[in-house]
Amino acid sequence: MGWDLDGVLADFFSAFNQLLAHMYGVRLLDKPRVWDWPQHELGLTNAQVRRAWDEVKKMPSWWTSLTKTKEIAEIPTDAFARLCHEHETYFITSRPQALHMTTQMQSASWLATRFGLKCPSVIIVNNPRDKTALLSALSLDFYIDDLLSTVQEAPASVKAYLLDKPYNQGPLFGEGVTKFRVKSIAEYIKAVQDAEPRYDRH
Ligand SMILES: [Mg+2]
Repeated sequence: MGWDLDGVLADFFSAFNQLLAHMYGVRLLDKPRVWDWPQHELGLTNAQVRRAWDEVKKMPSWWTSLTKTKEIAEIPTDAFARLCHEHETYFITSRPQALHMTTQMQSASWLATRFGLKCPSVIIVNNPRDKTALLSALSLDFYIDDLLSTVQEAPASVKAYLLDKPYNQGPLFGEGVTKFRVKSIAEYIKAVQDAEPRYDRH
């Protein structure tokens, strides 16, 4: 199975909002309503947002310091760790490369610390669009993301789940067949477990 990180497991939004507030004095939002929320909800220019990203890339511990999303915080940590240890699991993200400690290492370290995962497999892609070929090459059965286009473009061999958010509304072609919109991570986990019951649970 596969997991996107930001917006699914990691609360990138809150940390980036705080950084933008620190840099530009903008307000803190309750939650993002559109994908490009810094521009559309906070009125920042593309150049200002790019400068904030440049700051992110310079921080050696940006990706290790994020908190969990409320969606994954609802799942008991040991249950999530057990699920990841019983199923071949990949964490697939389009986070940009960091300058000091690699984004891959920071992300793996975050997963190990926050969830107790042993040797989490993190794959960094340059662009969300690159996930399509990767999902196919890894022969994943299940994948969850919060970006509508990624779920939409997932190969039909993958059951692709969209974690429902205000910013990813829109038609999901193939919904109910190979694409699914879920309100909670528990729904995704249940689908994985129902499809592939493992051993005797105790
Ligand atoms: Mg995401």
